[in-house]
Amino acid sequence: DKYVYDFAEGNKDMKDLLGGKGANLAEMTNLGLPVPAGFTITSEACQRYLARGTHVDGLEEEIDQHLAGLEQAMGRKLGDPADPLLVSVRSGAKFSMPGMMETVLNVGLNDESVAGLSRQAGGNDRFAWDSYRRLIQMFGKTVCDVPGEEFEDALHQAKVTKGVKEDVQLEADDLKALVGAYKKVFAKHVGHDFPQDPRHQLELAIEAVFRSWNADRAVLYRRQERIPADLGTAVNVVAMVFGNLGPDSGTGVAFTRDPATGETGIYGDYLQNAQGEDVVAGIRNTLPLADLEKIDKKSYDELLDIMATLEGHYHDLCDIEFTIERGKLWMLQTRVGKRTAAAAFTIAAQLIDEGMIDLDEALTRVSGAQLAQLMFPRFDLSGEPVAITRGVGASPGAAAGEVVFTAADAVARAASGQPVILVRRETNPDDLEGMIAAQGILTSRGGKTSHAAVVARGMGKTCVCGADRIEVGRDQFTVDGQVVHEGDVISIDGTTGRVYLGEVPVRPSEVVQYFEGDLEPARANDPLVAAVHLLMTHADEKSTLKVRTNADTGTDAARARRFGAKGIGLCRTEHMFLGDRRELVERLILAHNPTERNDALGALQPLQRADFLEIFREMNGLPVTVRLIDPPLHEFLPSLEELAVQVAVAKERGEESARDQRMLTAVRRMHEQNPMLGLRGVRLGLVIPGLFAMQVRAIAEAAVALAAEGGHPRPEIMVPLVGAVQELETVRAEAEKIISEVVGDSGVEVLIGTMIEVPRAALTAGQIAEAAEFFSFGTNDLTQMAWGFSRDDVEGAFFWRYLELGIFGISPFESIDRDGVGRLVRIAASEGRAARPGLKLGVCGEHGGDPESVHFFHEVGLDYVSCSPFRVPVARLEAGRAAV
Ligand code: PEP
Ligand code: MG
Repeated sequence: DKYVYDFAEGNKDMKDLLGGKGANLAEMTNLGLPVPAGFTITSEACQRYLARGTHVDGLEEEIDQHLAGLEQAMGRKLGDPADPLLVSVRSGAKFSMPGMMETVLNVGLNDESVAGLSRQAGGNDRFAWDSYRRLIQMFGKTVCDVPGEEFEDALHQAKVTKGVKEDVQLEADDLKALVGAYKKVFAKHVGHDFPQDPRHQLELAIEAVFRSWNADRAVLYRRQERIPADLGTAVNVVAMVFGNLGPDSGTGVAFTRDPATGETGIYGDYLQNAQGEDVVAGIRNTLPLADLEKIDKKSYDELLDIMATLEGHYHDLCDIEFTIERGKLWMLQTRVGKRTAAAAFTIAAQLIDEGMIDLDEALTRVSGAQLAQLMFPRFDLSGEPVAITRGVGASPGAAAGEVVFTAADAVARAASGQPVILVRRETNPDDLEGMIAAQGILTSRGGKTSHAAVVARGMGKTCVCGADRIEVGRDQFTVDGQVVHEGDVISIDGTTGRVYLGEVPVRPSEVVQYFEGDLEPARANDPLVAAVHLLMTHADEKSTLKVRTNADTGTDAARARRFGAKGIGLCRTEHMFLGDRRELVERLILAHNPTERNDALGALQPLQRADFLEIFREMNGLPVTVRLIDPPLHEFLPSLEELAVQVAVAKERGEESARDQRMLTAVRRMHEQNPMLGLRGVRLGLVIPGLFAMQVRAIAEAAVALAAEGGHPRPEIMVPLVGAVQELETVRAEAEKIISEVVGDSGVEVLIGTMIEVPRAALTAGQIAEAAEFFSFGTNDLTQMAWGFSRDDVEGAFFWRYLELGIFGISPFESIDRDGVGRLVRIAASEGRAARPGLKLGVCGEHGGDPESVHFFHEVGLDYVSCSPFRVPVARLEAGRAAV
């Protein structure tokens, strides 16, 4: 195996092996840009090192070869006392993990080469000794685990002795003394002296960077960002260039265009006479990049040329780190730059306008997750509110309310109509009711996979977690000395993680207004709206996977249609039995004889017909899948506990009612230990005479009514929870009879199909397809039953722990479990279509609106996904992205 690549040997597409930094350094080298010489040790070498816990055979020899090449290119030898080459040893994984892993600078310095470095720098002793003390400090911490405070203390002591405040006020002799102190610290902790052999320093530094892949914070970061744990990091060994050699040196960062809007221009910061760390640390104020023109016109012009080259090459916004060493420009890093969701859209559109990319490519530059972000209402920050602190944006949205500290208080205050923000150190399952009652949740501990984060996302509730500067007390919290009492109003931003004191006004999303068609005409030319329009139109043109919606009211259906839904994939009928109609359902359940039952059904039927007619009208011309009633009927009855108490109290008072008693008996009789696995779905239809028949008749009649109005209804009747073809055949036989009776020669066509949501149905899909004109995957139940855990209970109970342990990368109720549940989908799709070519296949579980899952369903070749109205645009965009 080859473990080491010179920069000239790599390219930007080798990120797997060379990491992002290494691949882009290689790309720049090959573009002829001024990159310091260097080489990259592959992430494979890191994987091997970590697997064995010891050095990798052949690696050191390869490094020797490449080091020799590097020395030749630079005309200097590593650590040569007379004229030393120094190198930096930098981590760089496939995915950017900012600041999570280690870097060691100035490798090659020792007691002798420090003098050589001074000579190189024109007799600058101060610079040389400062570089040496930085090496011992960084090397000690990173390679040998010396506690950083020990060095900090020594540095502090040096300043006290000298009577100065700033590092820069220390002179060469002070720094030389400090090196002595650092060496003592090093020897005390490590048990031997600071290594003087440059090649040995290099070897140890490389291994330390390898190990930093598994540093706690890196592990945590990967879990949160769902970066696989086994990738390893590449290591870049790069000739040092110095931005701190005087006023003709410096260091800076730049963007090739405005990362917020995509406008081309000069964006960046420059710091004279400084090293990279100083810019990030914010020790001194940086200058706007444009000022570099006055300081060093030659380097400035060259930098602008390079930026144009990089844009022309990457066809995207790039960000750049550079250093100027005595008037000579060096490129230290570039990558395709991070950007906000809004900028991603506007930049993609901008690049199309400039002829840099085409529409297909533009679709790959944005994501459904970004679109979803743009659809949340946001705080109106025009009043420039100042955040009191910042945590992790764990569940997006903008929420304001009075601070409460317990779930009980949240429930109580919310009940009086007051919006509240629940503030906790961390949440646990006992807080659930309070979380439901609150507008938003703020915690001081835990990241994106903490209990609070997981549950809030599941509920679509705004959440900021891990705001670790907050001290949560009983009835107040403090943050940086500021006290916020119970009842004070705060505002939290679940996207940025910012927390504000007081109520920040909320602004509706202009992207939603655009979808709704009620954006003021003046704003239709807004660059963001125009970009969204352009990309959505193209996504629709490209996609082969259609997007329908889950809707069971005319209002939802109409909104989803405005959002671009191509029909209804799931109309749940149970919601139609709530409210006033509950009583009719009770009558049905309590019926003593067929007459009573038929009366109750007879009363329900016209109501159902009206429901369906309204929905069919809104979806005129588009398919509407109506699912026959699914949940256990006792969900429509009072709870056993409540009823038992009520009856007991009534008895006490001598006010017993026969009806209550009958109800109690019925509720007892119908009680189930595992209702989700009990009498529900198709089983109800087979057990309760007339129930499904009533619904089928209502659907058919509504369709005929719309056709009579001149409309074009396209009803599809869907049977839930089927596990065996015989179940479906029985329901189908009855339904067909009713349909042909009602439809007559009206021209209305009604399809009959089934959900695939029981594992057995997926496994016998070939048989079931004989009786079904379509399948719709109910991935909620399919996930619940494939894993054997209750979808209603587990997210708050233990998912947070599973996420923490990495058993899940993401909740399988949120994103399809490809290996398990996904396999069931694949089997059913292929065996179903084998039995019935042209079988229509869709998804109506929550996964239908999840970007990752949409790509999976596209791969499997389904015809459509169906999701809640609000998710329709996200699914449309992802369906388009999956197709390019
Ligand atoms: C499903 O199980 O995925 C589904 C869509 O049905 P419900 O969520 O109503 O059980
Ligand atoms: Mg279901």
